[in-house]
Amino acid sequence: MTDRYAVIGNPVAHSRSPSIHARFAKQTGEDLEYGRLLVPLDGFVEAVERFRDAGGRGLNVTLPFKPEAFAWAARRSERAQVAGAVNTLRFDREGAWGDNTDGAGLVRDLEGRLELALAGRSVLILGAGGATRGVLGPLLDAGVARLTIANRTPGRAIELVDEFLRTSASAAAAADRLRGCGFDDAGDGHDLVVNATSAGLAGDRLPIADALLAGAVLAYDMFYAARETAFVAQALAAGCRRACDGLGMLVEQAAESFLVWRGVRPLTAPVYEALRAELAAEAG
Ligand code: NAP
Repeated sequence: MTDRYAVIGNPVAHSRSPSIHARFAKQTGEDLEYGRLLVPLDGFVEAVERFRDAGGRGLNVTLPFKPEAFAWAARRSERAQVAGAVNTLRFDREGAWGDNTDGAGLVRDLEGRLELALAGRSVLILGAGGATRGVLGPLLDAGVARLTIANRTPGRAIELVDEFLRTSASAAAAADRLRGCGFDDAGDGHDLVVNATSAGLAGDRLPIADALLAGAVLAYDMFYAARETAFVAQALAAGCRRACDGLGMLVEQAAESFLVWRGVRPLTAPVYEALRAELAAEAG
């Protein structure tokens, strides 16, 4: 029997996940179908339980339900625990299993496709929302030497770091490498600058010094689009030689979810290329 999966969110029409997982299934020969579940803002738990009770095997969870999925899942992975959010639910004999694959997706895109070894690097993340929280643990585990979280509202970055250090099992190993601050106190000499703000949605330029970007080996925008994103354009204009958007992270976090569900890791490079071409064709 064909196993059923879906992405659940609100809105969800824009999600590329059905297209990505259909490609993974074809490539690996796994017998599954993957759809979209648009649910009302107050209807998450009911929709998840209905899907599970009807035989559904797993869900990807997108905005705004990741914290709710975290609270609902009876069992959770360590990386979901650290992220405080669940983007992958698996339903099996033992019940619901909640995981978070966003951070692993970012690290795999950086170290694999982009060939940027993270060990010993200084990394600056701009933004202190859910996406940043999801990638903190995996970046530290990858051996970065310094991880600075800078946010428009400095208190949020400081709070995020404090909470991580209070709750994470790997806090002791992270304490002297992790710092929260405002954009103006981000320091310099960062090898990698990651945009994890939602400013890209409005095409806004970030109020940061050009020097932060000019000196970096790579500027990485978690946001992705058919055309060059505002952050990629800002980084290149500031003198950064290499900049890219977050389409690769999207494909890698999906591959990690596929592995959680099926025990098989699909090849991501051909799917990334196909999606990039699909986006370009849509933009005309
Ligand atoms: P979020 O929780 O809503 O956090 C938004 C963050 O953006 C906050 O730190 C906020 O700062 C900052 N911000 C918003 N507008 C800004 C502006 N004009 N200038 C400076 N800072 C601004 O959002 P999120 O869930 O973390 O998502 C962040 C981004 O990551 C989104 O673009 C999302 O699409 C992307 N993402 C991509 C992937 C992928 O697979 N590629 C996965 C996850 C997320 P304040 O605290 O000051 O308000």
